[in-house]
Amino acid sequence: MLENVVEFFKNLPAKVCTECGEKIDEQSECYHNTCEKCNCI
Ligand SMILES: [Zn+2]
Repeated sequence: MLENVVEFFKNLPAKVCTECGEKIDEQSECYHNTCEKCNCI
């Protein structure tokens, strides 16, 4: 079951900022649809 979850996340498209279109760093502390530049000012 755990492997299925990993595969699921692998197949997800990269999260992209809705403001600037930049890829959102997964290490970001923000879990919104914007990158830290646009969201965490
Ligand atoms: Zn952005």
